[in-house]
Amino acid sequence: MSDRDGFIWYDGKLVPWREANTHVLTHSLHYGLAVFEGVRAYKTDLGTSIFRLKEHTERLLNSARIYQMAVPYDKEALVEAQKEVVRANKLESCYLRPIAFYGSEKMGVSPKGAKVHVAVAAWEWGAYLGAEALQKGIRVKTSSFARHHVNVTMPRAKLASTYANSILANLEATEDGYDEALLLDTEGFVAEGSGENIFLVKDGVLVEPEIASALTGITRSTIHSLAADLGIKVVTKRVTRDDVYIADEAFFTGTAAEVTPIRELDRRVIGAGQCGPVTARLQQAYFDLVAGRNAKYGHWLTQV
Ligand code: PMP
Repeated sequence: MSDRDGFIWYDGKLVPWREANTHVLTHSLHYGLAVFEGVRAYKTDLGTSIFRLKEHTERLLNSARIYQMAVPYDKEALVEAQKEVVRANKLESCYLRPIAFYGSEKMGVSPKGAKVHVAVAAWEWGAYLGAEALQKGIRVKTSSFARHHVNVTMPRAKLASTYANSILANLEATEDGYDEALLLDTEGFVAEGSGENIFLVKDGVLVEPEIASALTGITRSTIHSLAADLGIKVVTKRVTRDDVYIADEAFFTGTAAEVTPIRELDRRVIGAGQCGPVTARLQQAYFDLVAGRNAKYGHWLTQV
């Protein structure tokens, strides 16, 4: 990823991609406290537009607030930085990665005395789980690793070190031949995927787990709006893994994963074992929305 042409916004200015470096004694590299976002920009008739930029930027700043990290840029500056990166790299559609982290000014657990740095990179990134996954759905395995308890790491923050737990789960599932992992919380209820929220469809109703141990996904919130528009009821409750086994349909949501159908969990085929009709409607509605084909949500698209 580091050996590319292009520009990365780094501490207030655009720097050549290969020069956007940090020291090996970077505090965040050693102790894991970095907050980040995953954002997408899509090609629309009005030009390249970043999807829900305001909400992603607010979540980034909230992640920092939770961890008492003083980000030296406000929301407006970060919004501008993200637009600037897409423009500078002449990207029609892309994935954006803003990150705030502590520098190499000091060692020891306390970050006091370390400078907060901010970088924003953007690059072309197709379907996170593959184009076929979006059409046919994926095979998922329940992880033997639990998602963080709400009082262990703070689930409202998109924190780098949270992803060590995601990596354990993802590697376990993919090395066993599955496409992705489903993590349960410490009480055994369904939490989320390693990088996605989950929804089920049962008897025409959309069912989602309470997000106690999961990230409050922005795609999830988009699905809530689209479901309301399509007259699909959403029920939020504690979900068990066998609720997933007997669901009519299931799918993951995420900025990277978009709306990815789940066709199997733990070798139990879900519904007809393909992208179900409700999932297909919501997926289509999602892709229409992000591409600017739904006037009601024009305010969620920021042209660069
Ligand atoms: N949960 C986790 C662990 C994630 O990494 C993501 C992706 N950011 C999500 C859920 C979905 O969040 P969003 O829809 O905001 O991308």
